[in-house]
Amino acid sequence: MKEFIVKNARVIDPSQDIDEIRSVMVAGGRFVESVSDKAEVIDASGKILAPGLVDMHVHLREPGQTAKESIATGTAAAAAGGFTSVMAMPNTTPPVDSPATYRLVSEIIAETANVKVYQSAAITEGRKGEKLAPLGSLKKLGVRAITDDGSCIQNVDIMRNAMIYAKMFGLFVMDHCQENTLTKSGQMHEGEWSARLGLGGWPSAAEDIIVSRDIILAHYTQSHIHLQHISSALSVDIIRAAKKRGISVSAEATPHHLAFTDEALKDYDSNYKMCPPLRTRADADALAEGVIDGTIEVIATDHAPHTSTEKDMPFDQTPFGITGFETAFSVCHEILVRSGKITMPKLIRLMSTRPAELLNINAGTLKPGTPADFVLIDEDAEYVYSHPVSRSENSPWLNKKLKARVVETYLDGKRIFKAE
Ligand SMILES: [Zn+2]
Repeated sequence: MKEFIVKNARVIDPSQDIDEIRSVMVAGGRFVESVSDKAEVIDASGKILAPGLVDMHVHLREPGQTAKESIATGTAAAAAGGFTSVMAMPNTTPPVDSPATYRLVSEIIAETANVKVYQSAAITEGRKGEKLAPLGSLKKLGVRAITDDGSCIQNVDIMRNAMIYAKMFGLFVMDHCQENTLTKSGQMHEGEWSARLGLGGWPSAAEDIIVSRDIILAHYTQSHIHLQHISSALSVDIIRAAKKRGISVSAEATPHHLAFTDEALKDYDSNYKMCPPLRTRADADALAEGVIDGTIEVIATDHAPHTSTEKDMPFDQTPFGITGFETAFSVCHEILVRSGKITMPKLIRLMSTRPAELLNINAGTLKPGTPADFVLIDEDAEYVYSHPVSRSENSPWLNKKLKARVVETYLDGKRIFKAE
């Protein structure tokens, strides 16, 4: 397999504390310490070279919902955003809650995926929150993580048992934190804007209650819990306090919860309707604060494609969720790095190294011997996000001007994306 050397890039690798102009060498699809004289030379002057991005929360919609996205189109969009490893959520049709569906999805992944896809499995059968899925069998087939994402197990005893079994089998538990009795008629964050717009409220308390419960259970069962798409300021405070106490908890935030507030819904634009909902300025600021001080360790897109037909329905009938792969890096760079809140290496840690560490996958690093999954980033780039690679275009950034982008993506030493 071909050898090459990428020269003159600013190389950032949080796993080795590297941030300097240097060369990176690749042979046989892996990073290596030396190459022969015949190696091709790629000049990457003015670019940043970093490990391929890792997204631990994505919806690829296959099987069953391929009008929205497929594993092929979703992973092509991932590559265009710089993601080389993604963890797919199990809320497909049927859900991935059994060895049979896991095998089926694994076959589709092997045949059609454009980046590395780690398929997570449901915690409970049918994601109904009633009976545990066959976690031991799923683990044996290669499942790393479990979640009922899109739903949340309401019964505390079932969640406790899930955590005990997951610990026994070495499965990573992720939770979508939502107390259902408080969100029954919820369309958006419950507050001033929901009152003004006459839309059903979805209070932060619905998240805070489950975040607290899960942290208490992590303490009680002596296991780890990962909290998905955190959106509320109080949740950030609760997680910070739990970490201080030594409880094993990690959390993620999405680009959209960092970028927008509930005011964005004032024109009833369904591209701002997501779950959990956009919250207040104070919540978005608290999330950024959590990212800065390490309370929030991961940025994940929650890439959630829906068809235009679905997103054009009356607001209360339109589904929750937006796409995220192709805009995540630019958006986070703008809010966090250009604003001076965090450094580039820290952003790479949040979007690559840390999620890879949490999922224990061979990614998020440029260490010799590991797969040559990397990106070239142009911090000065300006572009309009106009022709989505994703099958869906439910993005609040569609046709908007963005800055700083991934211009090339490499998977196992092969270039799989180049910006026009
Ligand atoms: Zn979710």
